[in-house]
Amino acid sequence: MISKKVMEILEERVTYPFAREYNVSERVINLASNENPYGPSPRVVRRLRKELNRVGLYPDPASLELKREISAYVGVGTECIALGNGSDELMDLACRVILDPGDRVLIPLPTFAMYELSCRCNGGVPRFFPLPNFSWPLDALRRELRGVKAAFFGRPNNPTGNMISRAEVEDLLGTGAVLIVDEAYIEFDGESVADLAPKYSNLLVLRTFSKAFGLAGLRAGYAIGSPQLIRAIEAVRAPFNLNRMAQAAAVEALRDRRYMEYVVTQIKRGREYLKKELEGIGLTVLPSRGNFLMVNVSGLGVNGRELGDYLAKKGIMIRELTDFKGAGEEWVRITVGTPYQNRALIRALKKLKEEKNGNQDSRS
Ligand code: PMP
Repeated sequence: MISKKVMEILEERVTYPFAREYNVSERVINLASNENPYGPSPRVVRRLRKELNRVGLYPDPASLELKREISAYVGVGTECIALGNGSDELMDLACRVILDPGDRVLIPLPTFAMYELSCRCNGGVPRFFPLPNFSWPLDALRRELRGVKAAFFGRPNNPTGNMISRAEVEDLLGTGAVLIVDEAYIEFDGESVADLAPKYSNLLVLRTFSKAFGLAGLRAGYAIGSPQLIRAIEAVRAPFNLNRMAQAAAVEALRDRRYMEYVVTQIKRGREYLKKELEGIGLTVLPSRGNFLMVNVSGLGVNGRELGDYLAKKGIMIRELTDFKGAGEEWVRITVGTPYQNRALIRALKKLKEEKNGNQDSRS
């Protein structure tokens, strides 16, 4: 009854990387899901209240108002933009239009599990590339790309927080493989390559309103690509994939750019604070350009799962990376929170360190 490709996905448990207890209560400090703790602009909330009266009507299937705002924000024509129910949906649509059964897709590891899921759901075969020391060796990537139809690259990559440069993207486009470049976190740092997409038929850039714009609960993402790629995505997507509330909120979020920039500044400050404090505790922290940090917790004498359990009991959620292919059990991912949340995390970690040191002293 169920196709072979989906049976394999079920048997191998290739799933979306949910934080362990989802519906966590309001009081829990959730640093496990890379959400934006500041939420959307007040202007977005006002527009949503008005839009509520219109939910009996279908949304604009072309999302034209939103495409015009994105066009002004990114600097590409509306014919180069497709919208999705979060960028998650666009990963699936990208694979649907690019892959034929058996086509290989390069997936660097560790990375976001949706890349593998989207690839396999659409008949693709993942070719994993373990990142040596979580770095991006250009020559090896170029070689790997010669043997695949497409590749996913996070810019920045979740969970490592680093990325290939714009010049390296241009270099790798020369291989002819289709590069699906996921820029979900690009507003937090780094130079986008979205403006290149209309010029290269083998580049598709994915962006989202879930992170810097604080709209994760409404599900709005977009893809930037050549008119040919975008036409293909438009032809196969569900007609009303972006709901009325999501369209209205995303439009308004783009009209309040100053709010987004303010929030990004706060999060970058929080990122610096957390990195410094975590290193002060003796942990290794990878440099990150996203709203999260990948941290090796072995300095605390625990593995990621043990630390996750310890913090969960104190009402703080982080992401252990044990089930992220290619990360290893010593690593966790911590989302940057508000200053209050960040301080609570650091306090809890210092307490754990004291407890561990106390145990060691009493044993010696
Ligand atoms: N890309 C990356 C790298 C992510 O980590 C996430 C979500 N955590 C997404 C895309 C999904 O974003 P969206 O909410 O737009 O589906």
